[in-house]
Parts: sequence; C-alpha cells; structure tokens
Amino acid sequence: MKKVFKINLLPNFLTVLGLFFILFFFSAISNADSSPFKNKIEDKPIKRPANLFNLEESADTIFNLIQKVGAKPTASVNKTKLKQNENLSSALKRIKFQNNHIGKIIKSISNLQNGKKILSSLPVGMIINYSKPSNLTGGALKISYSKTKDIFVWQDVNDNYKSKIYLRPTKLENTLIKGTIENNLYISALKLGMPENTILEMISLLGFSVDFQREIRKGDSFEILFERKIDILSNFVIQTKPIKYVSINLSGNTLNFFNFIDKYGLPQYYDENGKSSKRTIMKTPINGARLSSRYGNRKHPILGYTKMHRGLDFAAPTGTPVFAAGDGIVEKAGWNGSYGKYIRIRHTGTYKTAYAHLSRFHKNIKVGKRLLQGATIGYVGSTGRSTGPHLHYEVIKNNVQVNPMRIKLPAGKNVSKANFLKYQNHIKKILNQKIVLEKSMNNKELAINTHVNQKSL
Ligand SMILES: [Zn+2]
Repeated sequence: MKKVFKINLLPNFLTVLGLFFILFFFSAISNADSSPFKNKIEDKPIKRPANLFNLEESADTIFNLIQKVGAKPTASVNKTKLKQNENLSSALKRIKFQNNHIGKIIKSISNLQNGKKILSSLPVGMIINYSKPSNLTGGALKISYSKTKDIFVWQDVNDNYKSKIYLRPTKLENTLIKGTIENNLYISALKLGMPENTILEMISLLGFSVDFQREIRKGDSFEILFERKIDILSNFVIQTKPIKYVSINLSGNTLNFFNFIDKYGLPQYYDENGKSSKRTIMKTPINGARLSSRYGNRKHPILGYTKMHRGLDFAAPTGTPVFAAGDGIVEKAGWNGSYGKYIRIRHTGTYKTAYAHLSRFHKNIKVGKRLLQGATIGYVGSTGRSTGPHLHYEVIKNNVQVNPMRIKLPAGKNVSKANFLKYQNHIKKILNQKIVLEKSMNNKELAINTHVNQKSL
C-alpha cells in the first residue's frame, strides 16, 4: 500500500506543477496583451505613454489641417455624428463615400498605433467632420474620438490616404460664479451652473463655519473662483480644478477662504488672516483659569449629594473674559435658573457650547449674533447656584452635554509665520484674478458663464 501511494503521488505532483506553469504563462501573456491598450484607451493621465506628449496639436478645421500637412485641396466640409450601431465604415457609407475610398480610409487608420482598437471603440455621438473626394478635390476626415485627441485623415497629392493622431489643445480658465441664495445654497449654486463636485467641495469647506440648516437666509450671497480645463477647439469643459477662493455673506457677515498648499503639499483653506477653515471647539474658552471641577460624578458643593457634573468648571477671578469656543451664533443670552447669567452658542448642526454663572455679558452679545471663535462673550462671575467665581462650561452635542475633554473635532493648522508673506501675496493674486473676471463680466467682453451650460463630450 505504501509503495503504491508513493508512486501515484509523483505524477500527481507533476500534473499540479504543470498546470501551475500553464496558468502562470497565460496570465503573463494576457497581462502583456491588455495593459498597453488599457492605458491608451482609458486616457489616464498618470499612465499615459510618453509618446502622447510628442503628438502635434490638433487643428480646429479640416481646412487648417490641409494647409498644415500640404494635402490635396478639399471642397466644402460637412459634419455628421456617429449613430448607434454604426462604425466608421457604415457611417461613411451613409454619407455617400465610395467603397474604394472607405476601404483606403479604414486601412490608413488601422495602420496607426492602436488604430484597430480605436476603430472598434468609437463613441456614439462622436463628431465626424468630412470633405468628400472628387476628381479635383481630396477626401478628408476629422474624427474627434476622445476628449483629448483627434484623428485626421487626408489624401496626399498622389491620392494616397494618410492619417495621424493629434492632441487637442486645452487651456486652464479662471471661472467666477456669483450668486444669491434663495432657500438652499446647493440648489442656488446648481442653478447657476456650478459643477456638482465643486458645490460639494464648497459645502464641505464652509461646513466648519456655517450651519447650513439654520444660518442660511434668503438673499445671502456667495462667490466662488475656480479653474476649468477647457478644450480650446470645442470649448467643452474637460475638468474642474479645486476651488481657489470662496466667499459667503450671511446676513451681512462675510466669510472668505483661500486655497493654499501647506508644507505637505496638500491644499488647505484659510481666511484672509491665515486662519484655517477647519474649526475646532476650544476646550478651554478662558485664559489663565484653573480647571476646578471636571466632567463626571461629584459631590455637589451646595446641594451636598453626588450629582453628575455635565461640564467643566474653571476657577477665575470675577471679570475674567470668556471667549466663544468656536464660530457660531448666539442662541441664548440671559438668566437661566441655577446657571445664572448664561450664554449658549450654536456652532454647527451638532455642536453647541454653554457658559454659566457669568457676572455680565459682553456689550455685543445678543441672540442671533454671529461670533467668531475667540470673541469675548462675557465675564466670569458667580451668578445662579454657585459657591464662588468660576466659569461653568458645557459642550452640547445633539442637545446632550458631552465631555469637552473627549470631543474630537478636526483641528486645522493656520498658515505658519514663515509662510505668511507668501500667503498674503497668494491672496492678492487670487483677488486680482477675481477683479479681472468681474471687469470682463461688467464689460460683457467675455461672458463668464460661456462654458457653464455646455455639456462635455
Ligand atoms: Zn459647573
């Protein structure tokens, strides 16, 4: 039994080994076969073959190309689109090209690098500019088969068909969109033709400072500056770049943010003073105070029994300024039972902060007032149920007090001192671009929203 087992094992092992090699071999072949095509067809910028950058720039019309390559002159140029279930051959047949010409044109394109692959994957709706051949004039085609490339086909002076791939020229164009909010920032921006990804970018960067649910009022305004990559020949938008500048005016208060690359090469947003758009709630909204009572169970100093303390107490002399822990809106400012003189600030949809036992409020504090992080709101006191001057501070998440020491909000770093001058120049440059666009808007020399309503290919 033992012997038989051993003898049978060896061929089995060889079979498995052989299969493994066959599989390995096939997978190597199929990789070698498919990857170069994929890179070219999908047009991924990072994987573009190097020779793409050597492509000549495309021409806007067949006539200009004919001049460029010295082809046989053409007659009038017409335009058609590739229809559903059509290939180039059947499209040419439909527009009455003769069969012998069609054959030569297809052959010429097939001989290009990836030519067969391109011919088999032409997009429906693709624009074909064409000039039909006659005895005196040459045949020519311009096929805009991708967002970035064209194929030109022409007849040389000996009537031979030639073809070549050309790169479509693009430019980056600054775009300024200004608008007024009717009810909802998102919908108002969408109506103005702002690309959806840009709107979401704007909302997420403003989200640290603006409570979109409650702070937006009809008539509030916004403006936004960003770049779009535009196909110079077709005027189509190919790509939108990150927001450069955004400004929002909420009931008369303006917030401005500028895109600036941090030392890690990441785009961040800062206000005109270099303060990060990313806001956090301050854990200690008071300077030079001593934390005298933590969050949690404790024996109440006045009532005597153990009670949950849902805030932090900071012991400080009466009159010590208390700051707004984060940007927000005053929701309550007045007497609040055992809290005494009390202020509550609403920060975002989820966070609020409250300040109790104040001796007095800052003169600017009233309900509905918009505050920036760090603004003085009142002064330490001992009003309400209190044993001595201290600030009772609460962080409220979804209307429940939470431990301020435990909350984790993204902390944004401000522009560093070393970079501040550079940042200021950067802002000036952006604002100048904005002014230039505003002027052209006013002069109507250049319509800002020219490209907005055009769909890309
Ligand atoms: Zn307290």
